[in-house]
This record gives sequence, C-alpha cells and structure tokens, in this order.
Amino acid sequence: MAQLGINPKQIKSYNDTTLLYLLSSEGTLSRKVIASKLNLTAAAVSKITKRLIESGKIEEIGNSTEDSDRVGRKEVLLALKSNDKFSLCITAELDAVTYAICDIRGNLKKSVTYPFFDDNALIVNRAKAFLAENAAYAHKLIGVGLCVVGSVKKDVFGVWNNENLVDLLELELGLPVAIQNNVKAYALAEIIYGDTSHDSSVLFFKWGSGIGSAVAVGGKLLLSTDYSLTEIGHYIVDPSGKQCRCGRYGCLETVASADAISAETGGLSLTEIVSSKDEEVINVLEHKIDTVALALTNTATILNADRIVLFGQMFENQSIVEKLTVQCARYNNHFKHNKIMVGELSKKSTYIGAAAVSAQQFFFEN
Ligand SMILES: [Zn+2]
Repeated sequence: MAQLGINPKQIKSYNDTTLLYLLSSEGTLSRKVIASKLNLTAAAVSKITKRLIESGKIEEIGNSTEDSDRVGRKEVLLALKSNDKFSLCITAELDAVTYAICDIRGNLKKSVTYPFFDDNALIVNRAKAFLAENAAYAHKLIGVGLCVVGSVKKDVFGVWNNENLVDLLELELGLPVAIQNNVKAYALAEIIYGDTSHDSSVLFFKWGSGIGSAVAVGGKLLLSTDYSLTEIGHYIVDPSGKQCRCGRYGCLETVASADAISAETGGLSLTEIVSSKDEEVINVLEHKIDTVALALTNTATILNADRIVLFGQMFENQSIVEKLTVQCARYNNHFKHNKIMVGELSKKSTYIGAAAVSAQQFFFEN
C-alpha cells in the first residue's frame, strides 16, 4: 500500500538530511558503513552521496584502512565539507551578548563578549564590527544563528524591546537569520553535536540567572510556534511568592534562580554561597535545591524522561550538581542510575546553541 502524505521529493530531502547528521556525529564514514547504518542499499547511498558532493555539502577525504573487497581496494571515506561554511552566532543573555564564528560542526573560530544593553541598533552595529574584524570568514558565512532569552514570537522576543531585530540584522548584514530561544537552542546543539539523540525522551534544564527547559522526544526538539513550550521556569512553586516577569506569582524562576538566591543571601556570589558556613545561607541553598529537585522530578515523570541534561551557571559548581542529583533520587529512585548529568556542551553554552540553530536551518535541513 502506498504511504500517504510523503512524496519522493520529501524522501530525497529526508535521506540527505539524515546522512548529513550521521556524518556530523561520526566524522568520517565510508559509503558501505553509511548504507548499513541507515539501512539503505549501496545504490541508494551512492545516489545520495553523489548529490551531496555535487551540492558541495560533503567531500571525499581519502581512503579507509579497511579493504573493501578481496583484491584489496580501499573504501573511500566521506566527511562534511565544513571548511567553507561558517555561521555568525549571536547569543543574547540578560547580562551579556556573545558574538562568535563557528563552523557547521559547532567548532569555535572567533568570539567576543559585551555587556547586554536593550538596544537593537547597538546589537546590530557590534555584529557588523565583529564581522569586519574577521573579514576572512565574510564570504564563507551561511547565515546567522540568534539566541535570545524568553519566548520568541516571530520578530518579537519576550524580555526586551527587540522588535524587528531579525529584519534589521538581515538588512544590515545581508545574511539570513534564524532565531531561537537560548534554552531550546542549547538542547538542539546537544541533539546535533552531543550524544542525546538515541534517548527516547530528554529533559534539558538550565539553571542560572533565569530558569528554562526544553524537551526532546525521539531526537527531535518539542517546539510550539512561539517557542515557549515546556517552560519549567514558570511552574508555580510558591503561590504566595513574588510576582514573576510572566505576571504570575511564585514561579520557579522567581523563587530559585541564581539571582533570587543571591538576593536572599544578601547579595552573595555563588562561590560565596556554596562555601558559606552560615547556617541561614546553607538553609537557603538547600531549600532552593529541594524546590528545583521537586519541579524537575515531577516534570521528568510526566515526560517519562530517560535523561535530565543540566546546564547553566549553577552547575559550574560540582557540589550543587551532586546535591541536586541526590535530592532528585530521593524523590524518584529512577534517577539514581546516572540519569542526571551536566550537558557535555555546557561549557560552550555562550555560542553552541546559536551555531546549531544556524547549521540546522541553513545547512542540515536546507
Ligand atoms: Zn513566571
């Protein structure tokens, strides 16, 4: 029986994209190995790779060490052609904006960070200046990945007056721009460049000056049209608490963000809080960790998550990671068995999400 809803063109593009992602995670592979990994015939793989070589997306890079047949011929290895494709990655957090140039595999080439100001003209001008300083990449840029705090509604971000920033960047830089919420973008990077794509359900959790989350099911990010889906930061954990920026009261973010903890401990830094011997400070931190653990455990239960991937400023401190893991395991035994971990890309969070957003839109799925 014919399959409904899928035409040959879609199958073609699905096969191309799947092969590109495979090469992205594996580095180099022969046609023979690709065929076995993707469960395709040798003829099909030969067709797809021919098309991708012609379009400049992949290239042959020498021979494998293994013989392909009895007469000792070697298998030719294929890899992504990444040396001529780069992205401008702009990551705007509430305290800083990072501009970076990355290749399509997320490797950092150049970067600079400025304090954040709610000023679109300034953001665009700094992007122009950064590109001017790195002119060697100018003609190799495939697009711009733009990551922002809060929800993304077409051209309007949730937290500052950012109307038309996408249009402005496209106009001034002459490059296409792909926008995404910063937490969702980081999760996308873990899916594309990390090793979470084999889990059936993953909960990504960011804990820093804000609190955010993302969910991947079957290696795909769950997204709604305004990217605001799965916002654990706006889980109400204390109905009598302070008003949140979303308008409600006692959201997890207002109660337990790094900023909230600092404010409650008289402005102490995270390092000071963690090393403090003051009983009150210790209690505040333990209470916040417990609040976060409960919200995380409940969310993971609803999603039947195989894994919780942590990132953000709070997890730069190992003792917080350990305390949170212990607390989650107290609420749910399932988490005892290495189900909670700091994301392998967490140290790259100032650029890797934007790199993934641009690479996905302008290379892998283009
Ligand atoms: Zn809220």
